[in-house]
Amino acid sequence: MKIIMLGAPGAGKGTQAKMLSEKYDIPHISTGDIFRANIKNNTELGKKAKSYMDAGQLVPDELVVDLVVDRIKAKDCFKGFILDGFPRTIPQAEALDYALNNQNEKIDYAINVDVPDEDIIERMSGRRACVGCGATYHLVYNPTKKEGICDVCGEKLILRDDDKPETVKKRLQVYHEQTQPLIDHYEKKGALLTVDGTQDIKVVFEDITKVLDK
Ligand code: ADP
Ligand code: AMP
Repeated sequence: MKIIMLGAPGAGKGTQAKMLSEKYDIPHISTGDIFRANIKNNTELGKKAKSYMDAGQLVPDELVVDLVVDRIKAKDCFKGFILDGFPRTIPQAEALDYALNNQNEKIDYAINVDVPDEDIIERMSGRRACVGCGATYHLVYNPTKKEGICDVCGEKLILRDDDKPETVKKRLQVYHEQTQPLIDHYEKKGALLTVDGTQDIKVVFEDITKVLDK
C-alpha cells in the first residue's frame, strides 16, 4: 500500500503516519525528520536545508526529490510506504508520479488530514518532539508518561524552532500557496481520502483505517 499524507503543518500527519506504519508494517518516511537528522549530524544537506526550515520556507525541490525517489526504491518499500511531508509542491508530486509510473506503480491513497488554520497555532505551540527518535507528543492532547521525556526512547523533548507562532504563520501561508493544490491533484487521480483531523487522534485513525481495510 503506497500512501502519502497531506494536510497543513501540525494537522497530525506524523501522528497518524506512525500509527499506520505500525498497523500495516510499512515504513514511515518523513522528509522533515530526514532534514532534522541531517541538521543534527551537520551534513552538507542539513546545512543547505536549515536556513529554509528556520524561515518557515520549503527546501528547494531539487534537494528533496532525488532523496525521496531513491528512498522508495529501497527493499523495505517493496510492500509499500507512507510518505509524510512529501510531496509538498506540484513539481514534487509530478516527479513522484513519474518515478512510480516508470515502475508501473501509483499512489493508492493520498490521506488529507483536514484541520482549520485556527486550530493549527495551538497544536504547534503544544507540540513537543523527541530529539532522539523523532516521536511527537502534545502537552494536552497526547502527553508523555513522564514530563519532558520521550516514552519510546527516553530522550529529551523540545519545542521545535519552527513551531514558534511567527514561523507557524509563515508555514501556513506557504502551505496554502504551494501544498494545498495537491489535494486537487490527487482527487483527480481518484486517490484522495479526506478525514476530519479535528477529532481525537484515535477517531481520526479509525476513520482512515476503515477505508484502507475495505
Ligand atoms: P504534522 O506531522 O502534520 O506536522 P503532528 O502529527 O506532529 O503534525 O501533530 C501536531 C501536534 O498536534 C502534535 O503535538 C500532536 O501530538 C498533536 N495532534 C496530532 N493529532 C491530533 C489530534 N487529532 N487532536 C489533537 N492533537 C493532535
Ligand atoms: P515537517 O517536519 O514535515 O513539518 O517539515 C519541516 C520543514 O522541512 C518544512 O517546513 C520545510 O522547510 C522542510 N521540508 C520537509 N519536507 C519538505 C518537502 N517535501 N519539500 C520542501 N521542504 C520540505
